[in-house]
Amino acid sequence: MSLLKVEGLSKEFGGIHAIEDLSFTINPGTIHSIIGPNGAGKTTLFNLITAVYTPSCGKILFDDKDIAGKKPYELAAMGMSRTFQNLQIFFNMPAIENVMVGHHLHLNRRFLPSFLRLPSVIRKDRECRDYCASLMEFVGLAKYVTADAAQMPYGALKRLEIARALAAKPRLLLLDEPAAGLNATESREIDEVIKKVAQTGVTVVLVEHDMKMVMGISDAILAIDYGRKLAEGTPAEVRANPDVVAAYLGAH
Ligand code: ATP
Repeated sequence: MSLLKVEGLSKEFGGIHAIEDLSFTINPGTIHSIIGPNGAGKTTLFNLITAVYTPSCGKILFDDKDIAGKKPYELAAMGMSRTFQNLQIFFNMPAIENVMVGHHLHLNRRFLPSFLRLPSVIRKDRECRDYCASLMEFVGLAKYVTADAAQMPYGALKRLEIARALAAKPRLLLLDEPAAGLNATESREIDEVIKKVAQTGVTVVLVEHDMKMVMGISDAILAIDYGRKLAEGTPAEVRANPDVVAAYLGAH
């Protein structure tokens, strides 16, 4: 059974078809990457899967349940977590409290009204703090457990966001360009973190421009261009696909 199923999905912005008649499935326990040139529709697709956007048509099933009409936090409660292309860090808070926000959502989101789902009401007890510290260690940030977020380098903040997404205890983790802006060493660290996450049984969907990372880490790849499916398969299959090569070389 697939964890995520996308059927005939389309999203229009005015006259622009950002996503057009896209169908694919993601099996549990895999790392599935979505690639495509700039403007291909990758972030729009993430925003549709996480209910930030409403589809123009088509359907998305998470765990066999239609997500139509769900709010992003309801999907989080169902086990879907994500990071964003641009940093979404609370710079006025300690690093660990950024992670605690994610854990807070896991603990309370079923019961709290939306106005209480705010960083100001996060749990700060020892158990929560210890759990979030263990997540920071898991992503290689042990030395920043007592740091303020504002003191951390960019590469570490990208991993802090992964820790916060994990704090919501997802079954499906969507990562939007986790290696963007990172140097080779930092990219390798992210690569390791993603593999470790997958080893814990979390299914990962990755949008990433770093082809070395994508080709090395993915069980399956979906290539899109102009919002449409270009190719799908193993890294070797997608790399050899002439349409993918043409899209990346700008030959059409
Ligand atoms: P990149 O790799 O550069 O991040 P992408 O593959 O994530 O690009 P999207 O950001 O999803 O691509 O954009 C797909 C298309 O939809 C682009 O033509 C973009 O201009 C358009 N688009 C995206 N969001 C909106 C919006 N909110 N309003 C209007 N057009 C949008």
